[in-house]
Amino acid sequence: MLLKINDIKQKALIDINSVKDMAKLDVFRIKYLARKGLVADLFDDLKNIETTERPAIGKSLNELRNIIQTLFDEKKKFIEALTHQQKQILDLTLPGRPKWVGTQHPITRTLEEIKNIFFRMGFSEAFGPEIEDDYHNFEALNFPKDHPARDMQDTFFIDEKILLRTHTSPVQIRVMENHQPPVRIIAPGRVYRNEAVSARSYCLFHQVEGLYVDVGVTFSELKGTLVAFAKQFYGSEIKYRFRPSFFPFTEPSAEMDITCFICKGKGCRICKNTGWLEILGCGMVDPGVYKYVGYDPEKYTGYAFGMGIERITMLRYGIDDIRILFENDIRFLQQF
Ligand SMILES: [Zn+2]
Repeated sequence: MLLKINDIKQKALIDINSVKDMAKLDVFRIKYLARKGLVADLFDDLKNIETTERPAIGKSLNELRNIIQTLFDEKKKFIEALTHQQKQILDLTLPGRPKWVGTQHPITRTLEEIKNIFFRMGFSEAFGPEIEDDYHNFEALNFPKDHPARDMQDTFFIDEKILLRTHTSPVQIRVMENHQPPVRIIAPGRVYRNEAVSARSYCLFHQVEGLYVDVGVTFSELKGTLVAFAKQFYGSEIKYRFRPSFFPFTEPSAEMDITCFICKGKGCRICKNTGWLEILGCGMVDPGVYKYVGYDPEKYTGYAFGMGIERITMLRYGIDDIRILFENDIRFLQQF
């Protein structure tokens, strides 16, 4: 009898290990603990045992039943905990988690479009430092010291000679210093102005500068290039005009206007009822600039142009406050 008890105990210890779910656990329960189970059978056999041995055997049987009951209880707890955990990992009733897809900042988007148009026309990209020296930002661009044109650009000076660049034009000088013509580049980047921050102006903004210098470059090529750009960027139906202007580093200089694409030229608040929008400044590179970079002004001619990205972006998307472009407000940015 004691051998039988021990045998069932060993079997139960082995069986419980292969139980992995509630169905198997129930099979285990029926085999050992049910009314017709192995343990109950042994209790039935107790009546055939001699009276003197009964208490000892009975005690062993009770122990066996307790051990198997404990095995059962612990396994049950374990399976329940596991099932609960799995439910938490794989709750099919949970709503899906939205994937956050980033979008391009409107400034980046405008900049990329402009760059791609000029890349297709054979321009390559050039960069220069945002912390610039007075020489590259002003002097070599034909802004002599104490020239009133310097006052057109309120400058952040770091010390007497070092400043935050006020335009991307110093990149023109840096490229020409290091390359002989032909030079055909665009220079996108950040520029800084020491201006009061308002809805219309900010202390930093972006420009794209263009420069083309070679033998025999003419003003009509400048016009042709910029008109081709404007028609690709603003639409082929736009009208355009060039107005004389002044920049120290170009001569002659011009500003380019296109039909106001908001009112289609009829006149609105944005174009101040003129029907025209100014989109960029341009001109033939002043021969005075060539002497700073060692080009022969008798041999080479070229043109340069520059445009502000914020202004273009604001016009395109109907944004009326420049500050929102720099505030990283997700409610604004998600719209692009
Ligand atoms: Zn208009």
